[in-house]
Amino acid sequence: MPETIRRFLDACRENKALNTMITVNEAGLRQEYAAQKSRKGLLSGKLIIIKDNINVKGLPCSCGSRFLKDYIAPYDAHVIERIREAGGLIAGKANMDEFAMGSSTEYSAFGPTLNPVNPEHVPGGSSGGSAAAVAAGLSDYALGSDTGGSIRQPASFCGVVGLKPTYGRVSRYGLTAFASSLDQIGPLTRTVRQSAELLQVIAGKDARDATSSDIPVDDYLSALERDEVQSIGVPFHLLQEGLDPEVKVRFDETVALLKKQGKQVLDVSLPHLKYSIAVYYILATAEASSNLARFDGIRYGARQSREAESINEFYSQNREYGFGAEVKRRIMLGTYVLSSGYYDAYYARAQKVRRLIHDDFQKAFREADVLLLPTCPVLPFKLGEHVDDPLAMYLSDIFTVSVNIAGIPGISVPAGSSDTGLPVGVQILGNLYQEGRILQLGQTLESLR
Ligand code: GLN
Repeated sequence: MPETIRRFLDACRENKALNTMITVNEAGLRQEYAAQKSRKGLLSGKLIIIKDNINVKGLPCSCGSRFLKDYIAPYDAHVIERIREAGGLIAGKANMDEFAMGSSTEYSAFGPTLNPVNPEHVPGGSSGGSAAAVAAGLSDYALGSDTGGSIRQPASFCGVVGLKPTYGRVSRYGLTAFASSLDQIGPLTRTVRQSAELLQVIAGKDARDATSSDIPVDDYLSALERDEVQSIGVPFHLLQEGLDPEVKVRFDETVALLKKQGKQVLDVSLPHLKYSIAVYYILATAEASSNLARFDGIRYGARQSREAESINEFYSQNREYGFGAEVKRRIMLGTYVLSSGYYDAYYARAQKVRRLIHDDFQKAFREADVLLLPTCPVLPFKLGEHVDDPLAMYLSDIFTVSVNIAGIPGISVPAGSSDTGLPVGVQILGNLYQEGRILQLGQTLESLR
């Protein structure tokens, strides 16, 4: 057996207690290796871990849900085709919050993932399995999906690098939809360079996703060699309260490091960002309630109902059984904000505020080349700490959701640890399609640590 595969399988066994993987592609990996050996590409011989909401033909695609526990993907997602063309091997499927709803990976039907840095703490979510697998050394490369922070926040909690591309930069074909106007697939890796490599492979137009863009893809690896960023905008007004003091210390340190590099740090204002949690939890739940309607026990999902007397009863018995509590909460909220009488008050208004948040960012990018923010206002929380308090969990998404609302790219890079050794991350945001620029500054920060 090739050494890389043996090492990966050993690492899976050694780290089993962390529960990072739902499916290890043990049976398929040798075959993958044989098939890919002749392909010389950017990911030649590299093992890539895939979040379990991205379809890989022949492997289960559970989305962390009891509903899809036995669902086998009938085709490869676009990103999977690209990885194979570039010589990468699909290592397996990583644990996640059910249907990518959550910030801690505790809402998985397969049990929580633990943070490898300190297993009493959550790894973040919803791509917690992917981030924890990279942090635990299973592989240096993983894919996650980010609807409101699910790549960047777990990267920050686990001390790895996570990048959410511009909306439309990567095809969503084969990604199980949560909120289609916000979802993007992106890399979780050990280093910034690896993030650039994986993004290079998966980015670009795909006719099967009408929202994927035909704007030419940058050469991200050469972008790493450039030094384009002169000015960095920081919305200091958002950092006055609600920030853990240790997160603040690491953030201020990062700002000081960048100043020492000769970067200009500007105070920018994002006046509508305070509405972003409200806007996000209206739009994301509305879209989710529609996307998840297909899980009815007929078209998709396990059929549980045996004695229903009507079709509605049949659906509701299946959905009652299949979905977990958080998913049900979101479907109910989403259905409510879309219902007649409330549509204008909630959904239509949230769309208008979405525009204002977008405009705030556009204005800020006229003043500064990139923006800098903490990835998450708090340190990785303890398992169970927020699981019964959804609002507290939602509030921790304050710095990530606005980025999806505006469609811009963001990268979270490690920024040191707390006194108790818990990782802290900072995120660099760029304007649309400026992944090269944020990768480059991310690498600068990485080299200064
Ligand atoms: N934590 C956010 C949520 O629960 C983001 C999820 C995501 O990006 N998939 O919705």
